[in-house]
Amino acid sequence: MNLVMMGIQGCGKGTQAELLEQHFGWRHINIGNLFRSNIERQTELGKEASKYTEKGELVPDELVYEVIKDAIRKADKGLILDGFPRNLAQHEFLVENVKIDKVFLLDLDTETAIKRISSRRHCENCKRDYNLLYNKPKEKGVCDDCGGNLVQRKDDNEEAVALRIEKFYQETGKVIDLYRKQNKLISINADQGIQEIHRQILAELSC
Ligand code: ADP
Ligand code: ZN
Repeated sequence: MNLVMMGIQGCGKGTQAELLEQHFGWRHINIGNLFRSNIERQTELGKEASKYTEKGELVPDELVYEVIKDAIRKADKGLILDGFPRNLAQHEFLVENVKIDKVFLLDLDTETAIKRISSRRHCENCKRDYNLLYNKPKEKGVCDDCGGNLVQRKDDNEEAVALRIEKFYQETGKVIDLYRKQNKLISINADQGIQEIHRQILAELSC
């Protein structure tokens, strides 16, 4: 099974992809995390990508393909694409390289999305995501899993968030429209609890 998870920043697609990975053993491919890991390790690709990610710009397609090709190669059981495709060119790439079975859209309004992003934190060490409003750690500022420090992402500042959301409507919106026209899009209301959304996704996958 190969899935695509789509939705505005803060819609919770990463959280849902994570739950599906645990449930089915499919590989969760989070493009943003792959870039962040390259940036942290200061690889050539990371240095180039950080020029874009920090401002909230999309990274050029060629760099995205490099990361994604590598990730796809390692997935044998199935994959959950999170953060890809974000524009029509990336969609074309996908068509040529992977057979996609289902596409989920986690539907959320812009205002709620912005509110969620500003309360988003992630573990510096293991990268697990938290939200101070909806998905708090047991102890303030500390990761439940590894005890690491919880920090705000560099690109979760107001300006970069505004730009990413603009790109989402401009670029990713075209891909979503296409999947909708092709009757491939399964839309889920993302303004619900994490477990409820997970349950609805599982229900869609079982038929
Ligand atoms: P968000 O969904 O909140 O924008 P991600 O963690 O998914 O955050 O991605 C972080 C950054 O990585 C993006 O702002 C962008 O610069 C880059 N990125 C991720 N996926 C793609 C993609 N498919 N194409 C181009 N750039 C991407
Ligand atoms: Zn952690």
